[in-house]
Amino acid sequence: MICNTGRFKLLQYLKKMCNNQLHFILMQKLITLYSMTPHETWMKYALREAERALDQNEVPVGCIIVRDNKIIGKGYNQNVTLKDPTAHAEIIAITAAAAKLQSKFLEECTLYVTLEPCAMCAGAIVLAKIPALVFGAFDPKAGACGTLYTITEDARLNHRVHTIGGVLDAECGALLRDFFLVKRNGGRQEY
Ligand SMILES: [Zn+2]
Repeated sequence: MICNTGRFKLLQYLKKMCNNQLHFILMQKLITLYSMTPHETWMKYALREAERALDQNEVPVGCIIVRDNKIIGKGYNQNVTLKDPTAHAEIIAITAAAAKLQSKFLEECTLYVTLEPCAMCAGAIVLAKIPALVFGAFDPKAGACGTLYTITEDARLNHRVHTIGGVLDAECGALLRDFFLVKRNGGRQEY
């Protein structure tokens, strides 16, 4: 991983060294890749799932579950497609991971999701005894992991989830903002 100062110096150096624009852009992308923290790298995979939701005209939220550096479950919002109010990205990913592990508890797993989980999903994360949750954008309207409620870190429950919010929040939030902007300007379906 490269720190911000190191990244800046390296970019300045490359700008002098690269004799064409394409070469410079490629090098820039490589540096960005190596500058990302592990949480940011995994969040990129969750963002890919969110993009799948967008392709299907669903609210773009994506989720992956990681264990031993492998993705063992993934999902994206499918409320409209499945005509199911519980078909949130996290629920789909948890169901897939539990099937993969053949276990009702997802021990030693980290769940990455592009939007702060709602009360239903936060409850499911606690029930699955997932040790760690990393989410992207905070949700002022339904967030239950620090914003409206703090379900994942509530000491009264029998399992607490180490929760980190705001990872790649700008990117995760922009996807949602753009989606709702299109809807307000006469998109295909009301939400
Ligand atoms: Zn949810």
